[in-house]
Amino acid sequence: MLHYSITPSDLHAHLFSVSLEISEPASDGVQLTLPAWIPGSYMIRDFARNVVDLRAEANGQPLKVTSVDKQTWQLAATDGPVTVHYQVYAFDLSVRSAYLDQYFGFFNNSSLCLAVQGQADRSCTLAISLPDTETPWQLATGMPRQSGDQFGSGVFTAGSYEELIDYPVLMGQLAIQEFIAGGLKHGLVVAGHHYGDLGRISGDLAQICEYQIDLFDHQVPFESYLFLTIVVGKGFGGLEHRNSTALLCSRKDLILPGKQTIDNDYRGFLSLCSHEYFHSWNIKTLKPREFIPYRLAAEQYTRQLWFYEGITSYFDDYVLHQCGLIDAATYLQLVGDTIARVQRSTGANRQTVTDSSLYAWTKFYKQDENSPNSIVSYYAKGGLIALCLDLLLRRDSDHQVTLGTVMRDYWLEYGATGKGTEDESFASFVEQKYSVKLAAFLERALYSTDPLPLNELLSEFGVELSHEVAADDNTIGGKPASNNIPVALGAKYKASPQGLELQTVYNGEAAERAGLSAQDRIIAIDRLQVTEQSVKEVFDRYQPDQQVTVHAFRRDELLSLKLVWDKPRANNRVLRVKRPEQLKGWLNPKR
Ligand SMILES: [Zn+2]
Repeated sequence: MLHYSITPSDLHAHLFSVSLEISEPASDGVQLTLPAWIPGSYMIRDFARNVVDLRAEANGQPLKVTSVDKQTWQLAATDGPVTVHYQVYAFDLSVRSAYLDQYFGFFNNSSLCLAVQGQADRSCTLAISLPDTETPWQLATGMPRQSGDQFGSGVFTAGSYEELIDYPVLMGQLAIQEFIAGGLKHGLVVAGHHYGDLGRISGDLAQICEYQIDLFDHQVPFESYLFLTIVVGKGFGGLEHRNSTALLCSRKDLILPGKQTIDNDYRGFLSLCSHEYFHSWNIKTLKPREFIPYRLAAEQYTRQLWFYEGITSYFDDYVLHQCGLIDAATYLQLVGDTIARVQRSTGANRQTVTDSSLYAWTKFYKQDENSPNSIVSYYAKGGLIALCLDLLLRRDSDHQVTLGTVMRDYWLEYGATGKGTEDESFASFVEQKYSVKLAAFLERALYSTDPLPLNELLSEFGVELSHEVAADDNTIGGKPASNNIPVALGAKYKASPQGLELQTVYNGEAAERAGLSAQDRIIAIDRLQVTEQSVKEVFDRYQPDQQVTVHAFRRDELLSLKLVWDKPRANNRVLRVKRPEQLKGWLNPKR
């Protein structure tokens, strides 16, 4: 038996105290480890670096602990039960690790609970205490409860270590709004200072959940579900779990009472919720065979993240449209944003989406100023591949089969059974089950950097995709631009009163040809100062191919360079419904 106890012991020092009782330690001594990463976020994070002051005891006596490596401890052999005590420093305000202060606490058990080697398959119990605060705290988690009142402290159970670390916990003065979707209990739980209309939000969430439950034909891999939400001034993130999701959002993302229209911020929050909820099927149960089981001590590679993140990204906004939360024009603008983002990066010509998946650990999760020149996002391009798949399936099955239909059947075959998927499973499944041939399309889409057949497919569904000039180097997307500046710098920049700080310099374009690099700060063009205030006025003076003198700082060194302006490129991707009768149920033009 394994029993963990977690106490938020020092809110000001951001410390959780943890104890672990091991009733049957291995005869040659217990080995303890903490994961290096958390499923769903493919980066080595070395959670053990936050463990402080680890001690062990047996029979009332201290037991010798030897540190083995960055995340492993070896306890001396003993015959009786062993108890381990340690603290964990928790001040990472993200959904991936742990956080604690006097206002709220959040943790993943992968940051707090040591795994006992050889006992990962055993069930365990976890007692969680709440701190002694002036206004009482509550706690919310999807972990099955053994004792204690709903949202109070108590004892929880998990069937294995992998299950234990899939139940994040949120604590504090929580705002809780429960709702029913698909006949199942759901809850929106919010920690942090917020002004959101939780009644309205949970109503919108109920529609999203209901739609997805219907899409999977009421085969639901959980009995209840929680949206555990941390609200901050500025933040964004989500991590999927088996019967909950941990979300981080900005205060302005939660719609205010009395507001009717769904603005971009709130739409983004609903998309995030829709995305993480869809993952309950697509990665939490249907998953790459390489992830069965997870091995959390080091990187675990797969070429399939494009499928799990791409298809999920496709459905997140698509479900919003199908629920009537966003109209067809808004939906198409979001698709245009994604196409523009993928096609703007020269990295899309240099990395395949399967390689992007494989190198998630070192490239996608460790992006730098050169990433747009060297990598493609498996989320964004994966989402566009999913769009193509949906349209191809509809077209080639005479509108009988959709990507939604396939996901339901595929989930039953490879997810509900626990089989897991291999690189080629999807194409062969679709061909066998529906006689739709996808192999040739997928071969090109996944293993080459050839452009996707977006124009052709969208056009067959009555939608025209046009390449249009963007307003400036910074604003590209799916929205038609007005007031374009006449020249292009070929760099993304952040304008401030101090100048233009270059964030990305695109290969082969004006800024790079002139010798400018990311992080350079342009302070003057033709010896006149350029700032946030004057940038448009300055750029408006010039014509493509004209040469100017640029002064910029690189670190503390002043550069004087000759720059020849580029012609503005058609970087926007604008989608318009031209022949609504051809949409055939893919989109609803009346919404
Ligand atoms: Zn995701």
